[in-house]
Amino acid sequence: MRLACLSSAALLLAVFVSAPLRAELGAEGLGPAPRTADGRFENPWGDPAHGSIGIRFPFFLRRIAGAFRERPGVPLQVTNDGAFLRENARHSTPTVTWIGHATLLVQMDHVTFLTDPIWSDTPSPVPFLGPRRFVPPGLALEDLPPIDFVVVSHNHYDHLDLPTLAALAERDPATRFFVPLENGSLLRDEGIANVEELDWGSSVEHEGVRVHCLPAKHWSKRSVNDDLRALWASWAVIGTERRFYHAGDTGAFEGFARIGAALGPFDLAAVPIGAYEPVGMMKESHLNPEEAAQAAVDLRAERAVAMHYGTFDLSDEPLEDPPRRFQAAAREGVLGEERAWVLRIGETRAF
Ligand code: ZN
Ligand code: ZN
Repeated sequence: MRLACLSSAALLLAVFVSAPLRAELGAEGLGPAPRTADGRFENPWGDPAHGSIGIRFPFFLRRIAGAFRERPGVPLQVTNDGAFLRENARHSTPTVTWIGHATLLVQMDHVTFLTDPIWSDTPSPVPFLGPRRFVPPGLALEDLPPIDFVVVSHNHYDHLDLPTLAALAERDPATRFFVPLENGSLLRDEGIANVEELDWGSSVEHEGVRVHCLPAKHWSKRSVNDDLRALWASWAVIGTERRFYHAGDTGAFEGFARIGAALGPFDLAAVPIGAYEPVGMMKESHLNPEEAAQAAVDLRAERAVAMHYGTFDLSDEPLEDPPRRFQAAAREGVLGEERAWVLRIGETRAF
């Protein structure tokens, strides 16, 4: 009897493990991404509003004025020549390095990957007219270790930087580029061939790790009339030794708890903590620091690393506020301050 129970449990487990992953995550409400009849993508949790013209117009004027005014409180920086990271590329002590903004270099399970890489001076289609960069990238592009793959969360210029992606593809044609649905042609038009599009709830395997495309509550726009035509996403990279999550750009939503239940606990979750003011424009598509700390808890993250702040002039909040508030929220809440990581730009930390 006991043997029979064990063998049916084993059978159940085998069925569960071999079930198509897409269906598994679909049942968790994590995909596929809904689309309207005219092909635009939708947020199942309500599409975010972006504020009235009365909020948006003065905001854009302030961005222009920002080119000429001092902004105290930029993140601390450390020198990183990449020597350790190149040496570590295949031995793989699990590490995270903050290059700046949403760009992280991660090494785990013997692979090395980048999230939302941007080395350009400004996140903009016009190099001399975009938001200002406050801090140079924490590691020179030529000092990077070999990159197995890159994940891109969405097509906003601070996350999808074509000059950087083209430079990475040229540097190593074997590097794979994973993007959400309908973002592939942007890269292919730049001559990047090794591109794979994923829907929410789907995944690909790379040398023993599984890369999952997952929901985020955000939007997309790259030019005049392409709103919501390309999908936005968050990403999980699941290995046998470590589990990593990158939230991309997102407002607070119940997806964090669903993702945490389906794929957590995560050893490390990268959460965006900046670009939350003006509130009337940012609230629904960006996290504030307190929401970011709560997201880490919902995701069942062992530790959270702060990102998406202090690098470009994208929003109104004082530059020193996001990390201060993130650590305070962690200290006063469930997460705890020692699990809320605020790195210096260029810093590498083992996880
Ligand atoms: Zn965005
Ligand atoms: Zn962003």
